[in-house]
Amino acid sequence: MEELKANNFIEEIINRDLESGKVKEVYTRFPPEPNGYLHIGHAKSLCLNFGIKRKYNGKCNLRFDDTNPVKEDEEYVESIKEDIRWLGFEWDKLLFASDYFEEMYNCAVTLIKKGKAFVCDMSAEEISRNRGSLTEPGKESPWRNRSVEENLDLFERMKNGEFADGEKVLRAKIDMASPNINMRDPVIYRIVHARHHNTGDKWCVYPMYDLAHPLEDAIEGITHSICTLEFEDHRPLYDWVVRECGCENVPQQIEFARLNITDTVMSKRFLKRLVDEKTVEGWDDPRMPTICGIRRRGYPAAAVRDFCERIGVAKANSEVEFSYLESVVREHLNRDADRVMVVTNPLLVEITNYDGHETLEVENNPNAENKTFRQVSFSNRIYIDGSDFMVSPPPKYHRLYQGAMVRLKGAYIIRCDEAVFDDNGNVVKLRCSYLPESKSGHDGSGVKVKGVIQWVDAANCDAITLRRFKPLLGPSNGETDFMSRVDKNSVKTETAFAEKALASARVEDKFQFMRIGYFVKDKLSGPSGAVFNEIVGLKDSFNK
Ligand code: ATP
Ligand code: MG
Repeated sequence: MEELKANNFIEEIINRDLESGKVKEVYTRFPPEPNGYLHIGHAKSLCLNFGIKRKYNGKCNLRFDDTNPVKEDEEYVESIKEDIRWLGFEWDKLLFASDYFEEMYNCAVTLIKKGKAFVCDMSAEEISRNRGSLTEPGKESPWRNRSVEENLDLFERMKNGEFADGEKVLRAKIDMASPNINMRDPVIYRIVHARHHNTGDKWCVYPMYDLAHPLEDAIEGITHSICTLEFEDHRPLYDWVVRECGCENVPQQIEFARLNITDTVMSKRFLKRLVDEKTVEGWDDPRMPTICGIRRRGYPAAAVRDFCERIGVAKANSEVEFSYLESVVREHLNRDADRVMVVTNPLLVEITNYDGHETLEVENNPNAENKTFRQVSFSNRIYIDGSDFMVSPPPKYHRLYQGAMVRLKGAYIIRCDEAVFDDNGNVVKLRCSYLPESKSGHDGSGVKVKGVIQWVDAANCDAITLRRFKPLLGPSNGETDFMSRVDKNSVKTETAFAEKALASARVEDKFQFMRIGYFVKDKLSGPSGAVFNEIVGLKDSFNK
């Protein structure tokens, strides 16, 4: 097989394994616990695992790690599938750890028969107290030397529901003096009397992650089991399980640094609290770092994949600037999003020497490879943005003031002849004249103007609602409770006028509102009007 150039240390390992013949076909998996919605951190793991599948023409499973019945739910399973598809990935097999409960139980029995596992009557608290520390060995459980027969009998009775939660556990019998605390007779099975979203009431003993995960990988024939750095110290246990259970396939665990983003908390527990306490609109609130949140916020899936690719894969934890993610999103939208004209702070302009009405053809996206155009209605009454007129402009102001000229985007050059004020001295409208020869694309006026402004036809526009967002978390003042940092005023709503072309937009369509920002049509849109969420502003604040 021709070797592909490795882009990171994981791909280097894969190349070596392919070259040596250790691995014939690369097989990865994405193993979420269905206890919440996916977030941008998961996108990183998804891009890695499915990226490897794509690059090496291998396979990748979606496997729900549903070994904790209390926190898991069908709603999460469905949302995770939807989010992965949205990101553009397709799994080979859809699996549940719970599909293997029987096999896992049998592996535990195998361990008991080999004298490698025992039933322990100590409480969780006692076990933890006797675990020792980094400098001191742990203390052996008084139940450690139970006979195989007794262990088999007790484990079966655990399974049969004869004991209460926490009354007994099954522990691996490894080494209480190991320098690696994970190897000090870790708990591998526990009793939980709870209904499981998949297996119902069939089981009341559940495998712990450290037993379940390597077995799942081995059963599925996973070759490279990629996980985050905090599992590095668990790797000896992972290998122990695969070896002692006599698994035919020997998967290899590889750890990488999780994605952290500045001022962004991705822990599912925190995100769930925001949802449960109704601090946000739901898991898909546009301020949430969830996949469905950033989708609703208007981040294109391709930009999220691009971001994950560009930040690379590291072995040491670090933090990525949030503004870098925004910067990648902006780059994609600048390339792909159609431009439309929206006026947020309308000022009426009467064009005194123009009568009637016409329809102009305006280019949608100057960066598009294949140009497309839309129809924009023009008449003698238009709205421009109030900030594009000034009574006493500063130097180098290239927009409207008494006597000044400006180009209306896609239309004509106009000159401001007169501003009309109300009794309080506020401008209420402008009287302007247009240069008939100056039509965009056919400009024969010979007049050069520096300013180009957006506008909408007053008789032919729609009121829309814009929602703009500040970060959900305000600056840290050293508090440890993230809830206290939540900015309750992080959504701002305003009304604007939009050209008619926007009326045919569908939810999730993204646009550049010229000179304002990038916006996406939101699901809150209805018969009473369209709602658009700001995706990112026009200006890049990321310092490269
Ligand atoms: P959280 O701590 O947010 O609840 P988790 O690690 O418990 O996340 P899982 O559902 O267990 O979430 O994660 C599924 C996969 O996604 C795992 O392989 C995990 O390592 C990976 N993952 C989770 N968070 C990140 C992150 N921030 N960066 C990269 N990978 C991540
Ligand atoms: Mg987890």
